[in-house]
Amino acid sequence: AAMVLDGRALAREMRDDLSLRVAAYVAQHYHTPTLGVIHVYGDRSAERYVRSLQISCNRVGMNFKYYLLHHTATQRELESAIYTFSADPNVDGIIIQMPLPIKYDSAAAVGQLDHRKDIDGVHPINVGLLNQNKPSLVPNTPAGGMLILERYGIELAGRDAVVIGRSAIVGGPMSTMLLNAEATVEICHRATRNLADKVRRADVVVTAAGKIGLVTGDMLKPGATVIDFGINVRPDNTICGDVDYASAFEVAGAITPVPGGTGPVTTMVLLNNVLKAAIATHVDIDDDMAQC
Ligand code: NAD
Repeated sequence: AAMVLDGRALAREMRDDLSLRVAAYVAQHYHTPTLGVIHVYGDRSAERYVRSLQISCNRVGMNFKYYLLHHTATQRELESAIYTFSADPNVDGIIIQMPLPIKYDSAAAVGQLDHRKDIDGVHPINVGLLNQNKPSLVPNTPAGGMLILERYGIELAGRDAVVIGRSAIVGGPMSTMLLNAEATVEICHRATRNLADKVRRADVVVTAAGKIGLVTGDMLKPGATVIDFGINVRPDNTICGDVDYASAFEVAGAITPVPGGTGPVTTMVLLNNVLKAAIATHVDIDDDMAQC
């Protein structure tokens, strides 16, 4: 039986620590760190996610600003919303709710972000810094996965890792982070052949595909660490990951459950990035005032 990598416990610790640091920041800077979310109205699940972010923000003492665009908004209107938040000194961190409806050019939209407020770590400057192993603002989900590995003392240097999925927000940056931690990384995706053979060789298996039952216990090397980023909805409306938990639990050395694994940590990394961005952009202002 595997060690359960409990993301909820880690997220609770992070929340307590963050609340204290936010309070100290507010006392020192007379400014409340603020998250700005830009959302082109689409589906209800995205709306629920945004509301849950607002609640999480308030719980750690941060403010929340919401810029809701109608689905008829033009690219220009979207970019103007991004510019508004980027130029607003009261907004410290910005999220553009993804995926955008296909009529929008997402890369062009992301390019309009002030990279110092890009708390999803998707602006080309932040992507480049991570690739150079000089991370600044990094994508929350994989950063949370790395924190779980660290917290539970999972060795990475010299270990063989397989990452399934290569999206810009999860799989891609996770493989870069593992590489930066000196793991030997193999990146698998939709066109990969013989996935099972590759998974069987790995000491660390990361799934970020969004596919129920993609990895089963018989595919795992005994004792392997499994990080499951998948969030899938079963026909009965319950949530599960990409890994068949019951069979994997018998073979793995350590595994993240879904729910209760990577998900809760993601939100805390996101909020931590807001504070980080606030510190980076407001320190200068205070230094200037000190000279007055
Ligand atoms: P995406 O659709 O952008 O990317 C999926 C990736 O998986 C692609 O690179 C694709 O090639 C690969 N893939 C798909 N099917 C595959 C298969 N059968 N075999 C091998 N590779 C396959 O998705 P995403 O935004 O990266 O999200 C991935 C999953 O992570 C989803 O389930 C999503 O809900 C979840 N997610 C979780 C968190 C979290 O906090 N834990 C955050 C964001 C997304």
